[in-house]
Amino acid sequence: MQAGAPLQRVQEAAKEVGLQFPLDLGARGSCTIGGNIATNAGGVRVIRYGMMRQQVLGLEAVMADGRVVSSMNHMLKNNAGFDLKQLFIGSEGTLGIVTRAVLRLQPPTPSEQTAMVACPSFEALTGLLSHMGKALGGKVHLR
Ligand SMILES: Cc1cc2nc3c(=O)[nH]c(=O)nc-3n(C[C@H](O)[C@H](O)[C@H](O)COP(=O)(O)OP(=O)(O)OC[C@H]3O[C@@H](n4cnc5c(N)ncnc54)[C@H](O)[C@@H]3O)c2cc1C
Repeated sequence: MQAGAPLQRVQEAAKEVGLQFPLDLGARGSCTIGGNIATNAGGVRVIRYGMMRQQVLGLEAVMADGRVVSSMNHMLKNNAGFDLKQLFIGSEGTLGIVTRAVLRLQPPTPSEQTAMVACPSFEALTGLLSHMGKALGGKVHLR
């Protein structure tokens, strides 16, 4: 996927093959995958799927002197050497321009139920999330 692709187009492309790209945020129609990577965006499903760090398997970047850093890994498990992509994720363009990325897709969510819950304190909220996470096998979204 090229880094200038809008997030929404990436979500649609994943859907076309029966999968989902779980990162989602209000700016989906205008923000780019490169920008999401550069800001290590979390979005509305961060509790369930994690931040952009967890969604990127590999990337390619061009540094200021023109050198290309290519780390286009496709595997979930790759524990060989340094994980260079993590340096670029969240670096806000300071180390180079991200030009391509390999993204991790997820199976679609079969069904969604929404509950609006008021908690009396922050401690109660974290307790509730912990309880729901255990009860639902880690499948809680927080919006
Ligand atoms: C530190 C930070 C964290 C954020 N986290 C969240 C979040 O968790 N949830 C949320 O909803 N919104 C978040 N945002 C808002 C976020 O800016 C956008 O919604 C979106 O992720 C940015 O995409 P964009 O394409 O609009 O990037 P832009 O706003 O155009 O750029 C954002 C930054 O990324 C750099 N950048 C853009 N493209 C590339 C590229 N290809 N290679 C290298 N650098 C590039 C820019 O130079 C700039 O520093 C965050 C913003 C920042 C600054």
